[in-house]
Amino acid sequence: GTDSPVPSATTGTRENDTRDTLININLDHGDPTMYESYWRKMGNKCDITFSGYDSLSYFANGKSLCWFLESKLEEQIKRLHNVVGNAVVDDHYIVVGTGSSQLLQAALYALSPADEPEPISVVSAAPFYSSYPEVTDFVRSGLYKWTGDAMKFDKDGPYIEFITSPNNPDGVIREPVVNGDQGILIHDLAYYWPQYTAITSPANYDVMLFTVSKCTGHAGSRIGWALVRDKEVARKMTKFMEISTIGVSKEAQLRAAKILGVISDSCLDPKLVNFFEYSQSLMTDRWQRLREIVKANDLFSLQKYPLQYCLFTGDFYESHPAFAWIMCKGSEEDCEKLLKGHKIQTRSGRKFGSDPRYARISMLSRDEDFNIFLKRLMAIQGLINGN
Ligand code: PMP
Repeated sequence: GTDSPVPSATTGTRENDTRDTLININLDHGDPTMYESYWRKMGNKCDITFSGYDSLSYFANGKSLCWFLESKLEEQIKRLHNVVGNAVVDDHYIVVGTGSSQLLQAALYALSPADEPEPISVVSAAPFYSSYPEVTDFVRSGLYKWTGDAMKFDKDGPYIEFITSPNNPDGVIREPVVNGDQGILIHDLAYYWPQYTAITSPANYDVMLFTVSKCTGHAGSRIGWALVRDKEVARKMTKFMEISTIGVSKEAQLRAAKILGVISDSCLDPKLVNFFEYSQSLMTDRWQRLREIVKANDLFSLQKYPLQYCLFTGDFYESHPAFAWIMCKGSEEDCEKLLKGHKIQTRSGRKFGSDPRYARISMLSRDEDFNIFLKRLMAIQGLINGN
């Protein structure tokens, strides 16, 4: 599945609840509820109101090629990228989408050659984001076809490669892996924000995808954006939106504009709590606690990440990905199944084109759920009494 569909019953959990062991902890989706605590602290700084006469038109007033893009959102997207330094916006068109999920589809449509008898191959190096195969093949397009692990791709001719950096599920910084000269690249940079990894240079690729979901935690607003260098590609992506949804909710765009604006403010105004510093410290703390438990014995292992200099913070930072890519060290172990037996719902490595000894675990849950998760992990390892 995608990362945010059917929720399961994690509501009403309390850390000291004696029914802890009965509650299913859902760490399958990358649902970014962790950030709620920051936004609560911000009080009413992000409130916006709409009158009955606002936003009736299909059209936005801006001069953007993407005719439904609200200028306020365009302005705040550019401002945030400039404040953080994670992407070059100046010579790119912005296309807004209902999440970057819709933009993935728009990009596939826009980048596929229109006049070929066979669909173009779509690949990504395993372990790859589990939505890519699903999204690519869902409506059995004649334009493009999922072809699997980019490492194993050896056909001649054009292909589309998804490069997810940092990668979902394993948090690794990535480059294209196919050696062909006719590659069309889509850089999915959903996690290229300072709470997850060091910002080492402004990304400057032909097609780059971002989303508020993983940046600010407002996954429910469903706002994503693409930075697209080529005008014709941007136009075709805009056309895709027009045909599928005639644009993107203005309420959602204006709310996202407000939120992104507050984040930029928080980085520039020392009186405000810097969002990225706050979320970096949450992620650092969670990863430290998880690693501490995992290294206590030999049952599980975690991916290691290099320490890199971050241009945004001016300090060294180790990646603290949105997901833990955990491996059960026993040769026959099915990691998802093992964790599920302890009421921890995760996603099997199999869904990412990888090994069932791996499972992906969301690091973005609320504190209560994260704490219960750690407690259960300790119980599995026999470090504490399993209740
Ligand atoms: N790309 C990647 C790599 C993701 O992990 C996600 C969310 N899990 C998305 C795209 C889509 O996010 P959204 O549709 O919420 O913008």
